[in-house]
Amino acid sequence: MSENSVLIVGSVALDTVETPTGKVERALGGAAVYSSVAASFFAPVKVVGVVGEDFPKEHLDFLASRKIDTKGIQIIPGGKTFHWAGSYEGDMNQANTKITELNVFQAFSPELPEDYKSSKYVFLANIDPELQLKVLDQVPGAKLTACDTMNFWISSKKDALLKVLKRVDIVFINDAEVRQLTGITNITRAASVIHELGPKYVIVKKGEHGAVMYCNESMCFAAASYPLEEVTDPTGAGDSFAGGFMGYIASVGEITDINIRKAVIYGSTMASYNVQDFSLDMFKRLTLSQIDTRYDEFRQIVHFESMI
Ligand code: AMP
Repeated sequence: MSENSVLIVGSVALDTVETPTGKVERALGGAAVYSSVAASFFAPVKVVGVVGEDFPKEHLDFLASRKIDTKGIQIIPGGKTFHWAGSYEGDMNQANTKITELNVFQAFSPELPEDYKSSKYVFLANIDPELQLKVLDQVPGAKLTACDTMNFWISSKKDALLKVLKRVDIVFINDAEVRQLTGITNITRAASVIHELGPKYVIVKKGEHGAVMYCNESMCFAAASYPLEEVTDPTGAGDSFAGGFMGYIASVGEITDINIRKAVIYGSTMASYNVQDFSLDMFKRLTLSQIDTRYDEFRQIVHFESMI
């Protein structure tokens, strides 16, 4: 089953989030959780992470109900789960981080279960880049590797992050992080600098303005974001995008130019659904037919010449 499954490492969290429409406290979150659940709509998922004894069992049950293999999530007796608190204002394109408590992630060293090591599709979701590297070391046969990161790690662990970038095929990164990482304001120029750091594909997420993919030195695909009139909670949008992207690619198994473009649209579809409710609540009620419907709407939005 490892052939077309997606291996995901990243934060498994309890999030406290405040947006103009409401607030949740210590709700299920974390980059690995959003991306695993999004990917699970397309392909089997194996997740690697760590939680404390305070992590509600119902959250692990929910992941298992999505057929996500959770034996790679360590539960530390007496430990406290990673906790992030943030808020959003205005256009909600940027989270204001208030608290980052790494807790059990501080002493975590990922040891992949044996059957995880043959994974072909690997997504290094947002977490300490040193942990991302340790996972990468254990999957030498991977066919497609991708990573994500955020401002916290760009400022605190840049050297390790540069090592990760050197070894992955794809980086998912938002526009503010592109500027922070390169010191260059112009995104097109900055993307080509990131490309030189390693990744073949640089996928820049621009919040409500969609996503742009750079292949080699130039922009090769742009996707609008789905026109929602109300965004409830943008937390996890980037992770849902990456999860949808990787899940779709794993499900088709061929990394072709057209499949990568479709994956960007599936990623956009998953991100757009995720932001319609807090925590993982939208994904809990999302169906495959809703995904197909929105994917078709995206086709209409980006349709340019006659569609066959
Ligand atoms: P996103 O909105 O896609 O950028 O990701 C939001 C998720 O990232 C939240 O569920 C947080 O738990 C998680 N998160 C926040 N800060 C960090 C961090 N420094 N490392 C890893 N994950 C984080």
